[in-house]
Amino acid sequence: MSDSCIKQQPYLVQDRVKNLTLPDHTICSLCRGILWKPVACQTCETPFCSSCIKSWQIETSEPTRCPANCSKYIQRKCPRAITSILSNLQTICRYKQNGCTKIVPYSDLQTHEEACDHRLITCSGCQKEVVKKDFQDHHSKCQLVLLRCPECAAVYQRQDEGSHTETVCLRVRLHQLQNQSKQHEAVWNTVAMRRNSDRTLGETDLHLIRNFLIDYDKSVTWQLTHKQNITRILQPKLEIFFTQLGCNVDIDKDRRIQDLLTKYRKVLTIWKTHYKNIFEGLQPLLREAVLDIRDASYTGSH
Ligand SMILES: [Zn+2]
Ligand SMILES: [Zn+2]
Ligand SMILES: [Zn+2]
Ligand SMILES: [Zn+2]
Ligand SMILES: [Zn+2]
Repeated sequence: MSDSCIKQQPYLVQDRVKNLTLPDHTICSLCRGILWKPVACQTCETPFCSSCIKSWQIETSEPTRCPANCSKYIQRKCPRAITSILSNLQTICRYKQNGCTKIVPYSDLQTHEEACDHRLITCSGCQKEVVKKDFQDHHSKCQLVLLRCPECAAVYQRQDEGSHTETVCLRVRLHQLQNQSKQHEAVWNTVAMRRNSDRTLGETDLHLIRNFLIDYDKSVTWQLTHKQNITRILQPKLEIFFTQLGCNVDIDKDRRIQDLLTKYRKVLTIWKTHYKNIFEGLQPLLREAVLDIRDASYTGSH
């Protein structure tokens, strides 16, 4: 590529400056626009937009050469005489064609344009570019904008909002609950497969434990505190469970249940969900309790 083809897009075209006569050295020789964030060649002091000289060095075959052909290009700050002329320029906002009538000092131009009410914003729904000042109004009405249901988190376009009825929403939430309890059940199943290394529980006992945990996990409710769940829901269920295990002597059964509940209350924490408390706290205690019952019946002390 020959250097004559290298032409940069100016940031600030000449006709965006209000001042009638422009001193020649305020023009960048690479883009023919008004110098923007200028730097200069140390030898010949020719100024360039900083982005223009960077692109030029990438595109040219002799990146170390000064574009003004003086010698090797070594960069310096733009001479103060030029920057002071630039800072006195009155510039027209680039969004004039969108209706902006602002004329701002050169030094404020970038700040203004970044915040200009007439710049364009792309609508996430219809992908059209909308002038910033009309954007909020457009976005709040655009039929293609995606909405998220606050109840079930389903996502749909505004035009389909009407079909996300209360019934549909409830159905989605029911599905979510079913999936959640399926995930929990999968975890309980792995619990049933795990064996203690020293003492082992029989297949039947493991399944009793598994079913008990699934049942209790489904029965705990956030409407009660952890401790209320224990006394009102867990304790009655344990009484049935221990009877199923063959623990028929009332005194013995009560002692075992109270023992288990005391231990569980100690490890129970409000910082965990019911599910985590059951999995990490109740589950090992329950296995321990069942093993104790089995040990007692083998040694005949039951
Ligand atoms: Zn330039
Ligand atoms: Zn030079
Ligand atoms: Zn503007
Ligand atoms: Zn839109
Ligand atoms: Zn919903």
